Amino acid sequence: MASEDYYEVIGVDRNASQDEIKKAFYKKARKVHPDVSDDPDAEEKFKQLNEAYAVLSDENKRAQYDRFGTVDGSGFGGGYTDFSDIFGGGFGMSDIFDSFFGGGAAGGGGGRVRTAGRNMAVGLRLTLKEIATGVTKEISYERLAPCETCHGSGCQEGGKEVTCGKCHGTGVVTNVRRTMLGTVQTQTTCPECNGLGHKIDKPCPDCDGEGRVPTKETIKIEVPKGIREGQQLRKEGFGEAGLNGDITGDLLIKIHIEEDDYFQRDGDNLHTRMNVSMLQAALGATLVVEGILPDEEVEVKVPAGAQNEQVVRVKGAGMPRYNSDNRGDLFVHIWVTIPKKLNKREREALEKAANAFGEKFDNQKTKFQKLKDAFS
Ligand SMILES: [Zn+2]
Ligand SMILES: [Zn+2]
Repeated sequence: MASEDYYEVIGVDRNASQDEIKKAFYKKARKVHPDVSDDPDAEEKFKQLNEAYAVLSDENKRAQYDRFGTVDGSGFGGGYTDFSDIFGGGFGMSDIFDSFFGGGAAGGGGGRVRTAGRNMAVGLRLTLKEIATGVTKEISYERLAPCETCHGSGCQEGGKEVTCGKCHGTGVVTNVRRTMLGTVQTQTTCPECNGLGHKIDKPCPDCDGEGRVPTKETIKIEVPKGIREGQQLRKEGFGEAGLNGDITGDLLIKIHIEEDDYFQRDGDNLHTRMNVSMLQAALGATLVVEGILPDEEVEVKVPAGAQNEQVVRVKGAGMPRYNSDNRGDLFVHIWVTIPKKLNKREREALEKAANAFGEKFDNQKTKFQKLKDAFS
């Protein structure tokens, strides 16, 4: 399949401009899209078309292709995520978020072409700190949006929907072929109306009578605080537009939360680690750790005699709960630290302490001092 000529796949000359390539691509994509084409190889052809477009729409890759007849890693899905969602909830994204499209929204019914727009899905990556406060994010994506020129009707002024003359409104055409074994009848989707059974007598020039056009959208998403990994937000009417003004799908935003260096989330609770010196652990101390909220300081009471890996629970200092003013708890894991170097005063103090505890320890006096002690 990779050996097909990309220019032939899209249907343009070798010296076509970027604009011509784009136009030809969209036009062809509407024809070979697996939802409208009943070619058994439609999926393969649509992938091939995407692959060709991914290369020819990029001047660097196109130049490489013109010279060598191939482009490294030009296979579909080899990193061309930037246009994977051009066709609504359809291709590309569905490879990643298959579960989002459970077999399709309501369409024309009866085996006819789907006219309702589908839901689309995008992923949104956030930090744990953003989740703690809630955040507004901008998302850019491409979709088939309702055509502004004709308000989705697909008609030019004075145009109207008429029954397709070729299939007489059935959406299918019957071909009869004579073969050696007799006549063979095959039914295929009407190429004139793409199976709709009707068409527009004066189609809108901006959308070719479809009522929808590829559009780059930028929208703002308000992410409420406390949202969980994998949770979905829904933006109604921001999915794929329907054909000729049929309903528009929704945009589903799936939340992905990045790992934090300092905090680990467990539901609405948080875990963190705190260094506590051996003296503080032995004597007990009230210490302060950084909280998850901006500039938040959390007081942690280390009990006297605290052990390494002991956990201190601070109520209400965890993650904000979803749709609530409450918070989970913060679990502080104590990490007892031993001083690596002691100055003279510190060493004397610890030696005194060791003596008080009756503990043995290595004397670190210099040779000179030992000599001096021996003679005194
Ligand atoms: Zn239009
Ligand atoms: Zn027709």
